[in-house]
Amino acid sequence: MDIRLYNTLTRSIDLLQPIEPGRLRMYTCGLTVYDYGHIGNYRTFVSVDVLQRFLRSEGLDVTAVLNITDVDDKMIERSREAGHSLQEHARIYTDAFLQDLKVLDIQMPTHLLRATDFIPDMVSWIQRLIDTGHAYESDGSVYFRVSSFPQYGRLSGKDLGGLHSGARVDSDKYDKEEARDFVLWKAHKEGEPSWDSPWGPGRPGWHIECSVMSMKLLGESFDLHAGGTDLMFPHHENEIAQSEAVTGKLFVRTWFHCEFLLVNGEKMSKSLGNFYTLRDLVGMGHKPSSIRFLLASVPYRRQLNFTFEGLTQAAASVERLRAFRDRLRTAELQPGESPELLSAAQKATHDMRASLANNLNSAEALAAIFELVRLGNIALDQHQVKQADRDAFLDVLRRFDQVFAVLEDADREKMGLLGAAAASGPSDAEIEDLLRQRTEARQQRDFARADAIRGQLDAAGVVVEDVKGGGLRWRRK
Ligand code: AMP
Ligand code: ZN
Repeated sequence: MDIRLYNTLTRSIDLLQPIEPGRLRMYTCGLTVYDYGHIGNYRTFVSVDVLQRFLRSEGLDVTAVLNITDVDDKMIERSREAGHSLQEHARIYTDAFLQDLKVLDIQMPTHLLRATDFIPDMVSWIQRLIDTGHAYESDGSVYFRVSSFPQYGRLSGKDLGGLHSGARVDSDKYDKEEARDFVLWKAHKEGEPSWDSPWGPGRPGWHIECSVMSMKLLGESFDLHAGGTDLMFPHHENEIAQSEAVTGKLFVRTWFHCEFLLVNGEKMSKSLGNFYTLRDLVGMGHKPSSIRFLLASVPYRRQLNFTFEGLTQAAASVERLRAFRDRLRTAELQPGESPELLSAAQKATHDMRASLANNLNSAEALAAIFELVRLGNIALDQHQVKQADRDAFLDVLRRFDQVFAVLEDADREKMGLLGAAAASGPSDAEIEDLLRQRTEARQQRDFARADAIRGQLDAAGVVVEDVKGGGLRWRRK
């Protein structure tokens, strides 16, 4: 199936055509590991994961690179405040980040890179920029000369003509020829970690890290580069300049930018303090699958306003999907098939794939699946589902889950991984809720569902007894 994606560089939805047919090479800007990731960060990483999973489910061989920014101003500041060495601080939050990726079922990249492992490569790239007249040294620091790269601004459409020398475009406190020039190498400052270079001790600027690591692993031209929209300028603009100035080749074909997760209309960010980490939400008892579903359910180019109500709805949606699958698995069905149900299953798969192929429209893909769940539940109520229909329905759900990854019920385990108190079993309120759902299922003569809930309670060590004269009583084993 043809896949189309919005490309920030061309400002249009283009057909995705990998440089090497059948193989897609992509790079994602990862987390700056000075603190835990918040769910705004994870909106971007979940969107990229949905993209990667979809491309793989369509048969593409995806090589994915993700970096960890383990040296920058904030890393230095925060490690100092915490009394850690830079390496120690980076290790703690890198481990936490990797754990979060696992909990959110985000597939591990083919290559996970730490910026500090590539400093000699960065130094030699900076030297090449100096040798070709695109960079200059000043007081032990090195800057990119923006005037040497006339295409600068093409990605973001920013007109930097108004920025005169002396105006500040970032917080660097070094001397530059022009205000819009940006730093490639920062001269050593007292108390900061540093590495040797031809310009004296110092450390790389953030932008050069991504250019050098991506090209080292993926080649001088590759297919797709991803990140949140805040990275479009200056980070990605600078990556293009640093790379193309030396290679003279198109650095990246498709730029994929994910819109923000908002809280009360503002970007969720560490600096505004309006953020929840994954651990915060899991600690409150929210399931990782609900969080993943919520983050994946809104198309990535639309802003997503985070609310707890939205999270509760996401949990109900996941529950509905899981209950449908369990009902299908446990139903006793006649052999045979119903042509209408088989064609409904085929249509659901087609609509889901077509929606995702259309700039990853996850909301439409979900609508196609929920329509099948609705039809399927009615058909099950009316005993119209036959064995071949069930297999076709389960196959649609399997395909769906290759991309959305929310059906496998490993929530408790994952919550345990994050050390949440909730890992010890369902709360009293959750047990009451399950019992209420079970009673409802029995009233509707949906015994498969009622049994599935009973199994869930059994697994959690909850014993349910009928009370004489009606009603139920429960206790923990
Ligand atoms: P950082 O650690 O700040 O470099 O951010 C890691 C990734 O999260 C980058 O791709 C950012 O663009 C992205 N990001 C940060 N805040 C948000 C947000 N509120 N919504 C979506 N993506 C975000
Ligand atoms: Zn980057």
